[in-house]
Amino acid sequence: MKRMRSSQLLRRAQRLIPGGVNSPVRAFKAVGGKPVFIKRAKGARVYDVDGNSYIDYIGSWGPMILGHTHPKIVSALKKTVEAGTSYGAPTEAEVELAELVLEAFPSMEMVRFVNSGTEATMSAIRLARAHTGRSRIIKFEGCYHGHADSLLVKAGSGATTFGVPDSPGVPLDIAKNTYTAVYNDLGSVREIFERDPEGIACVIVEGVPGNMGVVPPKAGFLEGLRVLTQEYGALLIMDEVMSGFRLCYGGAQTLYNIVPDITCLGKVIGGGLPVGAFGGRKDIMEKLAPSGPVYQAGTLSGNPLAMRAGIETLRLLKKKGTYEKLLNTTNTLCDGIEDIIKRRGLPLRIQRAGSMFTLFFTPEQVRNYQDAVGSDLEGFARYFGRMLSKGILLPPSQFEACFVSLAHTQKEVEETLDAVDKSLKNL
Ligand SMILES: *Cc1c(COP(=O)(O)O)cnc(C)c1O
Repeated sequence: MKRMRSSQLLRRAQRLIPGGVNSPVRAFKAVGGKPVFIKRAKGARVYDVDGNSYIDYIGSWGPMILGHTHPKIVSALKKTVEAGTSYGAPTEAEVELAELVLEAFPSMEMVRFVNSGTEATMSAIRLARAHTGRSRIIKFEGCYHGHADSLLVKAGSGATTFGVPDSPGVPLDIAKNTYTAVYNDLGSVREIFERDPEGIACVIVEGVPGNMGVVPPKAGFLEGLRVLTQEYGALLIMDEVMSGFRLCYGGAQTLYNIVPDITCLGKVIGGGLPVGAFGGRKDIMEKLAPSGPVYQAGTLSGNPLAMRAGIETLRLLKKKGTYEKLLNTTNTLCDGIEDIIKRRGLPLRIQRAGSMFTLFFTPEQVRNYQDAVGSDLEGFARYFGRMLSKGILLPPSQFEACFVSLAHTQKEVEETLDAVDKSLKNL
């Protein structure tokens, strides 16, 4: 597979953009090799600038749950463009998307739209601090909540990959307000609350973590967080930027029956355009400007194109049988990979949640960040490279989730399984 134009573009980009990319994981640093420059996409496939085709499991890191360039989304966006792309004034589409989101998430009585997941979590934390009058927060090692200062402490995803759990540029004075606990270990959370019973504004947790690879919550873990936060007068923020509308029509809170105080969304609710959202109880949300004193704003927030893509995506997802289909495809694929692992007697393990999964290069159950970093990263890198050369585009890091879309069919599953089987041979 030749990638001449990708290489040329990378050289050009590297002179102009740090690392040649606008988001670190795209650079393929964790797996070696050079990033693929994409030209277009359709359904379950993306095509690079050299004309190569790949079955896509990045899915723009989650949003493309319908597959790429879904005809309904494309035509809705074309119509919207004609009417103007941004006004800096309220529109009906914002109200429509808000209604759809609140209906799917009963724990949210009000919502505000922003432009990214990072903005959503950053603003949710500010709101939790204002509401409780406390400054410290608890997050989990390996959970990623975007790149705001307070949250870039022992974060997963790109931060894990690059081994910079605490990024330079984050002042100690800010990082010291962020406690980190061990995921799936309630005792580690209780210990922090006991040490600082009146100082903690909130606990923030991924609905189902996908940013250290997929690590589902143990039975009782999320419930325990709900009880502990209530006991100590702290808020529970569920960051469902990845898990929202990915696991079911709703989020991890729907599946696990948890009522958080604030929820963060992003990715799928923008249908591939830049959107984030945070929402929750009315008494908390009304503290936001202009109804309250907590400042938060955005020039392009609630952008008409982004709202339209979100509305059309949710409408399609809401149809009967959608998530059954998505789950069926994911299960066929994951069961198939498990069969290959067994047949070849390999020390690997698949972990899945809804339509996301990770093939961990470790035989042990991955319950938290420490378990995840025990994986054979060189093995993963070799596997990634072989898959790429067979036309399968995986997320270029062990600490990420693969995303299955509604456009992935039996044909793509079979092609992928064939590539997995060949790639794992004599790895
Ligand atoms: C992707 C992600 C974010 C950050 O969203 P951006 O749109 O990249 O800023 C936050 N939290 C979780 C759980 C995510 O997966």
